[in-house]
Amino acid sequence: MSGKKRARRGGRGVSERAWIRVYRTEALRQQKGKCVFCLEPLTLGRTTAEHVNPRAKGGSTSAENIAAACQPCNSLKANMSEKVFRNLIRNPDRAERRRFEFFMANARFRIFRRMALAERRIRRAAGLKE
Ligand SMILES: [Zn+2]
Repeated sequence: MSGKKRARRGGRGVSERAWIRVYRTEALRQQKGKCVFCLEPLTLGRTTAEHVNPRAKGGSTSAENIAAACQPCNSLKANMSEKVFRNLIRNPDRAERRRFEFFMANARFRIFRRMALAERRIRRAAGLKE
């Protein structure tokens, strides 16, 4: 089996890191340059590759399973499922551990969601496409 084929199937061959960079770049483009969880605008250099279904739970390194996330969200999510993590960001008082970080993620989410709504309103008012 060639190394390229192995990496594409999610193996941890020599080129997995290269594939992760490709998937991360593509995910950031699809997410319009924002963290998949808190919506913070990111530059490519500040973007981490987030395994939506965690590796520890069998999640693969594939385009379908890699999202672009800010470092704090990626680190905080760790091995949680996407559903549990999103719920804790929206309801940080339910977090049993790392409560400070969950409150900060909640603050980012509220700020950047508002920013996105404001941008949409301004674009519409200015007659620009969204
Ligand atoms: Zn984030």
